[in-house]
Amino acid sequence: MSEKPIYSFVVPAYNEEKNIPNLYKRIKSLATKLNKNWELIFINDGSTDSTFFVLNDLCKKDKNVKFINLSRNFGHQAALSAGLKYASGDAIISMDCDLQDPPEVIEEMINKWHENFHIVYARRTNFRKDNLIKKLGSKFYYRFLGKFTKIDIPRNVGDFRLVDKEVLAQINSMPEHSRYIRGMVAWTGFSHAFVDYKRPDRTQGKSAYTFGKLAALGMDGMFNFSVIPLRLGFLMGVISIISGFLLLLYQISDVILTGAYYHLYKWLIVILFIFMGFLFMLMWIIGEYIGKIYDEVRDRPLYIINEKKNFDEDINVK
Ligand code: UDP
Ligand code: MG
Repeated sequence: MSEKPIYSFVVPAYNEEKNIPNLYKRIKSLATKLNKNWELIFINDGSTDSTFFVLNDLCKKDKNVKFINLSRNFGHQAALSAGLKYASGDAIISMDCDLQDPPEVIEEMINKWHENFHIVYARRTNFRKDNLIKKLGSKFYYRFLGKFTKIDIPRNVGDFRLVDKEVLAQINSMPEHSRYIRGMVAWTGFSHAFVDYKRPDRTQGKSAYTFGKLAALGMDGMFNFSVIPLRLGFLMGVISIISGFLLLLYQISDVILTGAYYHLYKWLIVILFIFMGFLFMLMWIIGEYIGKIYDEVRDRPLYIINEKKNFDEDINVK
């Protein structure tokens, strides 16, 4: 058996037959330069092209290359989770297969890791060249997410990052099923740094992230990290009840002061407003309970300890 790797590169691949040889070449030359043990873990996420065979051959040629084959397409986040589960290095670098995450940036990330940062994000500085909807969508989305969640999920970072093995252990210990990994990494709260880079366009194959998949990922980010949408019911309830009461007050004073006559349906509408408000409130209360159930079911650790002193068994995360 080969020795334990220092660096693990984790790469989900979905229909990437054309990109794999290039990526391998560049990672290999980087690893040679780093001159430490390394592993390159590919996860074949149910590709329909020859990705499987390309990876199979590569594994035979180079024992540093490892390969996990999923039974079907489970999606990027699931594939990445599978790879992270099996990564055994001290620094784990996750990246895309399409060379949009240039391996050359990794050197800088590793330098930051040597400066004792637990998490190093690669942050893109250029704008997305995608269509306008994706671009605007991502802009508003992150603004929204920042307001609605208590943790700070960094902007302009994807899943190109380095984490050390402490952070990785935490991620792997989270049993939740809908996974928004960049959120989970940020949630751990370990010290982090950024490396800026210009993200090139995809050269081969095509993006598997359709608008639908992107929207689904966005929803996961939103709902996995915030129960605030559930509180919408409270706001609607308050508005409905207050406007109902104001209308009622207006009608009553109109009747008393000017002797105006209101049809029955007008009274009913006003009362309906008030009742609807209570219904919304009720939905909010149910929502709060569902939020609590969600929290319990997700079963994240209550806290993460960074350091402990003067106990019998001191743990000290670097
Ligand atoms: N990917 C995957 N499963 C999927 C979709 C994508 O494993 O269902 C991989 C893909 O091979 C690539 C990475 O996830 O390595 C990012 O995908 P893509 O380049 O399509 O996303 P984009 O760069 O457009 O956000
Ligand atoms: Mg891409």
